[in-house]
Amino acid sequence: MGNDNKRFETTAIHEGYNAKGMHGSISTPLFQTSTYEFESAQQGERRFAGEEEGYIYSRIGNPTVTVLEKRIAAMENGERGLAFSSGMGAISAVLIALTKANDHILCSSGIYGCTFGLLTMMKEKYNMSFDFISMDTKEEIRAQIKPETSCIYVETPINPTMKLIDLQMVAEVAKEYNIPVVVDNTFSSPYLQRPLELGCDVVVHSATKYLNGHGDVIAGLAVGKREFLDEVAATTQKDIGGVIGPFDAWLLLRGMKTLPLRMDRHSDNAERIFEKLRKHPKIKAIYYPHDTNHPNYPIAKKQMKRGGGVIAFEIGGTKEAAQALLNDLAFLKVAVSLGDAETLIEHPATMTHAVIPENERLLMGITDQLIRLSVGLEAWEDIWEDLEQALNKL
Ligand SMILES: *Cc1c(COP(=O)(O)O)cnc(C)c1O
Repeated sequence: MGNDNKRFETTAIHEGYNAKGMHGSISTPLFQTSTYEFESAQQGERRFAGEEEGYIYSRIGNPTVTVLEKRIAAMENGERGLAFSSGMGAISAVLIALTKANDHILCSSGIYGCTFGLLTMMKEKYNMSFDFISMDTKEEIRAQIKPETSCIYVETPINPTMKLIDLQMVAEVAKEYNIPVVVDNTFSSPYLQRPLELGCDVVVHSATKYLNGHGDVIAGLAVGKREFLDEVAATTQKDIGGVIGPFDAWLLLRGMKTLPLRMDRHSDNAERIFEKLRKHPKIKAIYYPHDTNHPNYPIAKKQMKRGGGVIAFEIGGTKEAAQALLNDLAFLKVAVSLGDAETLIEHPATMTHAVIPENERLLMGITDQLIRLSVGLEAWEDIWEDLEQALNKL
């Protein structure tokens, strides 16, 4: 991994930073500045003309943010990384840079709610169109590609039902038509899944989730081939300006150092909780990417190192039963978001996916009885004891 072929765990700690010239500071310095002094008027002229490397103004570049951008690029095995003030900042910058009025975007059957909102806005303002398809076979994808298709946008695992899409297969079809594939890799993080290595072109992240991992930052990242990321940097990142602040970049760099350790522990805990839930009489259905009984398991084995920390499950009864379960928890937190040290539990039908019309929501498998669990880093026995006592009250 990385430019000098270090392994992932080492890259996550070292890539993009050199303490030499930084007073030996082991921790990446926080450059909390909006602008930079030029040594002369002529130097300012050279920098604006692009004739000399160097910082100008922090919306265009900041040394702390540069370390973050180099680090995520190496962790995803991409050529260039860019940082944004939120996951939606990254997603909107990428989608707006890669498309134009009247274009068509082909999407996986489930995408993040605000990404759906962004596409709806682009449809209304710029006469664009989009289709949602399951992306199970090459034939199905080929049948939906139009002359004006400018981008294939994929989320896998799909939130919250954990359905998987074979990224290598999608990338192979896209190559036939020379269409870039953009993947939202938030749920897996680069430790578990690296879409660029499977032939995809751009990866986007809500770094708010696993990459930061500590629930104290809203941030986004985009990584990919230079041909696409240079365009994003020069246009939508700079001119729309949803850039990350230096302190958030600093916190994110700190969180990312422990990503491999945390993802393994999230996965260890989730595997234990999955086994317990699966056997519990109150559970009607359960979804987890590394469920060996799931029809998607061959895809999981192929592209995801482990299952990650998110499990969705269905109980019997009504919406009220699902709400009662959440209300009966003693210390597990009822909250949206995921990937934090704390276990978070939510009700998609009335929270993260409430904006989706009921019939579409049900087609996506998001019933009133479905609950999403982001398994945290606590002792798995404590997580289970709290879930079990609440389940037993149903
Ligand atoms: C949270 C999330 C986003 C949006 O990220 P923000 O950092 O909240 O802007 C996008 N995609 C997925 C899959 C997410 O979970």
